[in-house]
Amino acid sequence: MAMTAKQAKAVAERYAKAVELVEAGKVFPLYGEPDRYVVVNGQGQAYLVDHISGECTCPDSQLRCPKLGIVCKHAMAVELYVERQQATAGERPPQPQAEPEPEAEPARLHRIEVDLMEEEQARRLLEYLF
Ligand SMILES: [Zn+2]
Repeated sequence: MAMTAKQAKAVAERYAKAVELVEAGKVFPLYGEPDRYVVVNGQGQAYLVDHISGECTCPDSQLRCPKLGIVCKHAMAVELYVERQQATAGERPPQPQAEPEPEAEPARLHRIEVDLMEEEQARRLLEYLF
């Protein structure tokens, strides 16, 4: 899987632009479509990128990239964006890992508290009425 000089140059050009797109906040996740992203270019035009296939709706992706055997800058931007999102997620303490173990006990206590409160209210109501 050697890369030709032509491919390397084509990737380098697109990579620099992809970094700019990510830095400028031009990559957006598409609601309800976990693997699809919208990338907005400098002219305000939006392209739809499939993160799995690397396909993009831009002309570069349709015409030049298939011949070169590379992906467009938008697909690269999405790749960088996802990578950064994952890196950011990794920095946070691993809270989702903390499994709820003695869940039953607090839940039961809470239930007792509610019952006591209701009992107390009922008692006060009875006192008030009689
Ligand atoms: Zn594209």
